[in-house]
Amino acid sequence: MVLTGGDPFERPDLPELVAHGTSRGLSMALSPSVTPRLTREVLVELHDAGAKAVSLSLDGASAATHDAFRGVDGVFDDTMVAARMVREVGYRLQINTTVTRDTVHELPGILKTVLELGTTLWSVFFLVPTGRGKLLNALTAGEEEEVLHWLHDVSDLVAIKTTEAPHYRRIALQRAGVEDLDTAFPVGPLRASLREATDQVLTGDEPRRRMPRAPIDVNSGRGFAFVDHVGLVYPSGFLPVSVGSVHEQSFPEIYREAQLLQELRTPDIFGGRCGRCEFRTVCGGSRSHAFAVTGDPLAEDPSCGYEPATG
Ligand code: SF4
Repeated sequence: MVLTGGDPFERPDLPELVAHGTSRGLSMALSPSVTPRLTREVLVELHDAGAKAVSLSLDGASAATHDAFRGVDGVFDDTMVAARMVREVGYRLQINTTVTRDTVHELPGILKTVLELGTTLWSVFFLVPTGRGKLLNALTAGEEEEVLHWLHDVSDLVAIKTTEAPHYRRIALQRAGVEDLDTAFPVGPLRASLREATDQVLTGDEPRRRMPRAPIDVNSGRGFAFVDHVGLVYPSGFLPVSVGSVHEQSFPEIYREAQLLQELRTPDIFGGRCGRCEFRTVCGGSRSHAFAVTGDPLAEDPSCGYEPATG
């Protein structure tokens, strides 16, 4: 369970919430903003209450790009201090990165920082054209495909999770067992430049390689749901269609019975390519992207360029 915001550190009862969740057997994680409220004392208190993981945002490889993206001077340096504190106190550290066309070339530099910080999980978020995302510059489906292949190329360096790009699971499956990946999946200009930049930033000590972690099999309403600050439940934080309120029904009841959540767990009824794709049960597409672009959460995901073999 991730307590997010806004900034969850604004809640004076946060330690109580963490202790309660822990006592109910939940693995509690926190997603704070980097502000003066994020202190070592509070981190220690929340860790003592049972919190296990903290996620911080890093959207640029340098102070100039991250501060510009966040619109706050100095937040890159403060994030570096906070990330080290999080590790020292004993949390697992997750770094969240939003990819836009303007910042995509920062990814290799961000990867370097992710590795230096001892990050447990790098969560790469593919922009949904909703809310603030409308103002930012999302990648095309072809560019997104290239970035997902690059992420898989480096997934033996750090565990990687994609948010709102479940077709990363399709890519992992397509690549499994393929010996000559570059022939099977020709390297386009974006992936070539990401590779070159990766080779440049990861000079020196050869980074420790590990078995790539299998991409997590969750999607909107399927293994995941979002509860907002007034108790409304959504399939995800980026799919603004409420399916109930925890003030009126229990969360498990909403999760099991809400019609939209049931539909989101039935990929055979999805529209277009997603509905006939051979990867629909493991991928299913970004339902938030489908909704943001078409107004229908069950429509084809326009951020994926894959043409199903069964089509
Ligand atoms: S077409 Fe849809 S289900 Fe198939 S890989 Fe792309 S997003 Fe996933």
